[in-house]
Amino acid sequence: MSRVYNFSAGPATLPEPVLQQAAEEMLDWRGTGMSVMEMSHRGKAFVSIAEQAEADLRELLQVPDNYRVLFLQGGATAQFSAVPLNLLGDAGSVDYVNTGSWSKKAIAEARKYTAVNVVAEGGSGDPMSIPPQSEWQRDPDAAYLHYCANETITGVEFPEIPHSGDVPLVSDMSSTFLSRPLDVSRFGVIYAGAQKNFGPAGLTVVIVRDDLLGRASETVPAIWDYRRQAESDSMLNTPATYSWYIAGLVFQWLKREGGLRAMAERNKRKADKLYAAIDGSSLYRNPVDPAARSWMNVPFVLADDQLDGTFLSEAADAGLQTLKGHRSVGGMRASIYNAMPESGVDALIDFMADFERRHG
Ligand code: PMP
Repeated sequence: MSRVYNFSAGPATLPEPVLQQAAEEMLDWRGTGMSVMEMSHRGKAFVSIAEQAEADLRELLQVPDNYRVLFLQGGATAQFSAVPLNLLGDAGSVDYVNTGSWSKKAIAEARKYTAVNVVAEGGSGDPMSIPPQSEWQRDPDAAYLHYCANETITGVEFPEIPHSGDVPLVSDMSSTFLSRPLDVSRFGVIYAGAQKNFGPAGLTVVIVRDDLLGRASETVPAIWDYRRQAESDSMLNTPATYSWYIAGLVFQWLKREGGLRAMAERNKRKADKLYAAIDGSSLYRNPVDPAARSWMNVPFVLADDQLDGTFLSEAADAGLQTLKGHRSVGGMRASIYNAMPESGVDALIDFMADFERRHG
């Protein structure tokens, strides 16, 4: 067996110790004589798995007591509708920052329910950047302010949490959740699909401040009603039990690795050296303003796009896989989430330098 370095944007590489533990526990989870996949979600064994996962996540992120942590399905895409359905209340509009494709998708869904005020347009041009908050055209009466913390396709990431005053701040953190410590108390709602930085597809974590529960109208489907899900401990219907279990193993792995501060240091080091390699070359280029460069998704283009196919096939032969950029932008993209070891980034940098010597 030989594992490759998998730079996929998601579903993405998982920590090897997590996969090994899951393999060991596959047929018989701790003497129960069954796999976690085969357990009733309401049985004692699975409830203990679910509670432990939540406790570990709360510890990692220092989630304050007045926040509920939900383990839902439907991906971040379901949250694009769940957020307005739950938070709109009597307000007549919502504020969104547009920094790229995922922001646009969230905006398009919200428009089905209410008037959307786009407070700022970013993530386009060359270099791509995020407009300073002083230029945002915000509405003080908006039900909430939404932003995408990290645009997975273009690698445009907010370096800091925006200020929203009394307006609840909502963030799509799908591709940066748990990459570093986070002040949860600044947010009304945080949501993230698991399949990038903390587990398999099928699970979405939603962290919601408890005063925002109970605003959904009667017509909102029960499974998308945060209050109903909070009241039933995310078990209004059968949850994604196996993904929840694997996420729990990832949370324990993160704790063993030193928690989010240690992750932040490692992630910054990985990103800094990859960007330095790109900036120092004449073959590769990253089109993002250095102030808004993602720690998690590093896109780059080759000076001669005729070389793209050769780059990808030689990289794959060298054990460096899934480096093709998103189909909407082309080029390359290296996703270097928590589970991508520093040795994977080093191997990529070495390969890129060697490729440039031979083809540049
Ligand atoms: N938001 C962001 C930032 C994403 O990267 C993605 C997935 N690539 C989504 C939303 C959509 O997530 P899902 O496929 O889990 O619905």
